[in-house]
Amino acid sequence: QLEQRIKALEAGKTQYPEVTYLSYKDRKRILITGGAGFVGSHLVDRLMLQGHEVIVADNFFTGRKRNIEHWIGHENFELINHDIVNPLFIEVDQIYHLASPASPPHYMWNPVKTIKVNSIGTINMLGLARRVRARLLFASTSEVYGDPEVHPQTETYFGNVNSFGPRACYDESKRVAEAMCYAYAKQERISIRIARIFNTYGPRMHMDDGRVVSNFILQALQNESITIYGSGKQTRSFAYVSDLVDGLIKLMNSNYSSPMNMGNPDEYTIEQFALIIKDLVGSNSTLVFKEAVTDDPKQRRPDITLAKTLLNWQPTVKLNDGLNKTIAYFRNELLVKRHSERN
Ligand code: NAD
Ligand code: UDP
Repeated sequence: QLEQRIKALEAGKTQYPEVTYLSYKDRKRILITGGAGFVGSHLVDRLMLQGHEVIVADNFFTGRKRNIEHWIGHENFELINHDIVNPLFIEVDQIYHLASPASPPHYMWNPVKTIKVNSIGTINMLGLARRVRARLLFASTSEVYGDPEVHPQTETYFGNVNSFGPRACYDESKRVAEAMCYAYAKQERISIRIARIFNTYGPRMHMDDGRVVSNFILQALQNESITIYGSGKQTRSFAYVSDLVDGLIKLMNSNYSSPMNMGNPDEYTIEQFALIIKDLVGSNSTLVFKEAVTDDPKQRRPDITLAKTLLNWQPTVKLNDGLNKTIAYFRNELLVKRHSERN
């Protein structure tokens, strides 16, 4: 059964080689909260293939079993249907704490729950880390910088966040989660890592997550208007998911416990980005400009000097290569969707 699964992986389901054998001493038990989501499922693949034991805790709010189904039944893999707002009692060595809605439409859909996931959920995971003396890496976000007045954003910048707007449920709860990590590290001697993740894209992004990458690609593939919110002069910097996964694992295994930016410093205006996607898809779509979104950050680009210096990490995947893989993924998703609608 395992051989069949690995063959399926090699046949193109993922780009990674087969599971490495790790001795008992080197093999870790690793919990990934939100492991059925976009970033989490790629992290699952990487850590499984490295030979670790991986436990996913996910309530499938935005994640899908399909993202990790190729591991179900593997002796090193365990899937727990669990809402992290409730405590979890297991034994692990490391925790990658990723569970949280991530796209603006998803996190604004139930803002109270978003706050609970990042506050109560993070307390629960820090409590687990304290109990079993595990190291915890928290998936923070560039949104802790809000609408930044410092550009590019360095980790020492305190941010410009509106505590009373539609994005506050996410931005502020990620900020309080960072504060909790700091407090637990200081008071309870927990080993923590904080990755401030900038916009990341790739296969397994949710079709309906409303983020710019999925929206633009799906619109271009269907020759629909590409919707630009506001002037299109706002900027973002996009990292491919495999680069982010490399960075997260390096950060987890480093000895650096203060926040670290993880992103690709190549910066584009949203209008430029729309034209790049239209071109790569070969689409007839036109660009339409819609009303700007409240509190939409005007500029965003990570300063990754710290990650380069301390982790020897920097993104390697070029935007066109990453986008072509993502476009191929969404093209297939559209086929699957049409097929299931027909039957
Ligand atoms: P995603 O929505 O694909 O994945 C999030 C996962 O968390 C999903 O599987 C979801 O079901 C799960 N989840 C949500 N609430 C939960 C709960 N209460 N209990 C258990 N599981 C729960 O999003 P993603 O893009 O993979 O983001 C992963 C993490 O990285 C998030 O913490 C996000 O804030 C952070 N992040 C992502 C980006 C990005 O561009 N993708 C940027 C910055 C930060
Ligand atoms: N955006 C857009 N059209 C869309 C979706 C997003 O113009 O269909 C813009 C959005 O207003 C923001 C940028 O693209 O300026 C990135 O948005 P996204 O939701 O992907 O993530 P954010 O970086 O805002 O968290």
